Amino acid sequence: MRHIAVIGSGPAGYYTAEAALKQWGDDVRVDVFDRLPVPYGLIRTGVAPDHQTIKAVSDRYERTALTENVRFVGNVSIGPDVTVEELQRLYDAVVIATGAPHDRRLGIPGEELKGVYGSAAFVGWYNSHPQFRTLDPDLSGHTAVVIGMGNVALDVARILSKTEAEFAGSDIAAHALERLKASKLRKIVVLGRRGPHQIMMTPKELGELARLERASPRVEAADLPEEGEDALLEPGLRKSVNHLRSFAAIPEHIHGEKPIEIEFDFYASPRAIVGTDRVEGIEVERTEVRAGRAVGTGETYTIPCSLVVSCIGYQSAAIPGVPFDERLGRFANDEGRILNGLYCVGWARRGPTGTIGTNKPDGFAIVEKIAEDLAAGRLGHGGKQGRAGFDALAEQRALDVVTFRDWKKIEEAESAAARSGAPREKFADVEAMIRALR
Ligand code: NAP
Repeated sequence: MRHIAVIGSGPAGYYTAEAALKQWGDDVRVDVFDRLPVPYGLIRTGVAPDHQTIKAVSDRYERTALTENVRFVGNVSIGPDVTVEELQRLYDAVVIATGAPHDRRLGIPGEELKGVYGSAAFVGWYNSHPQFRTLDPDLSGHTAVVIGMGNVALDVARILSKTEAEFAGSDIAAHALERLKASKLRKIVVLGRRGPHQIMMTPKELGELARLERASPRVEAADLPEEGEDALLEPGLRKSVNHLRSFAAIPEHIHGEKPIEIEFDFYASPRAIVGTDRVEGIEVERTEVRAGRAVGTGETYTIPCSLVVSCIGYQSAAIPGVPFDERLGRFANDEGRILNGLYCVGWARRGPTGTIGTNKPDGFAIVEKIAEDLAAGRLGHGGKQGRAGFDALAEQRALDVVTFRDWKKIEEAESAAARSGAPREKFADVEAMIRALR
């Protein structure tokens, strides 16, 4: 029997469990740990609440979770409750699948001012992540600046622009919907340090901006490179740039019909956040793109704003005793191997890139590595206690472990509490989740 512990129940975690089942069938037991009492990580608290079709992938993870040989071990924090070394003593292989929950920092003056948020916090707020439910952003100003030209920046700009009716069928947190309903924001500036040919936004997501009820996207035609140069782009990016071209062609009177403008500000690199008690503006420097890099021109200007959301990427959370690459913001690893018997997968392995589906081949690849190491005798010769050993430890420490069956009770309560037409109203604090299952 092989015993595998997976830390993290998001896409990378469940694809790894699925791959282990494919590889060893009844000869494996997989325990999937999560610090929250609820599974699915990024699917639950990262994917935008108005993108329910993307969230449907959790049905696949549920099929894995419900097989006899896989077990969800929720409400257990690695570190305070059980250490990685302890798991290594109990399981043949320990796989870190904790993603990249921390925001990359801008590293500019004023970043600490009130009203400046990283996307992990801001997205967590509207997605009911217990850690960020009390964020309480002030949306009473005129202008918000969203930094970054990736899909997360698009999510944030779109969520800030939608009407209540456009949230029908979403599972946006009730506290966020209330705040958004009262929002006075009229301009969302999306700030990119490079140009239209260097955006990370994908076409489907970018195209959504053209269909918003009360917001219209604005692109300055002068910012767009010669059309002929688009031919050199890979097809996905070319489609995205086509969207930018169509935004640039929107007639002025159409902009005038919608009260909110989503303005793309290219070639603009953040230099400082200004304000006394809270953010009052952001100072940016004009750039030129040379050999693909943003180079400052020395020309600066300030965009007055009352909210800044920095969507410039994420980093993994280090675990004491586990080698970590500070520069890359992820676990130090060689194709997923960290130390003997200790692995990482998904964003924890390769950093915050790719789609949810990218984690599938990642999960299968790490299981192949584990299989190789087992076959080569590098992981000892069996006899680990696996889940029985963990259960004894959990009892000894009086851990309040939440099972998958428990989660289904939480899920039921969340469905029952949903607004009309919404799939669920997520609990935004751990105590409420635990109360719902007791
Ligand atoms: P991302 O795609 O890597 O985009 C990050 C953006 O931040 C880039 O435009 C980058 O510009 C910019 N940036 C980085 N450092 C900066 C700085 N110091 N100052 C100004 N700008 C800076 O990251 P993401 O948007 O966080 O997305 C993470 C992953 O999740 C991506 O793979 C994304 O596609 C995926 N995702 C997908 C969906 C979806 O499919 N619906 C939704 C959300 C997220 P440079 O290029 O100049 O560095």
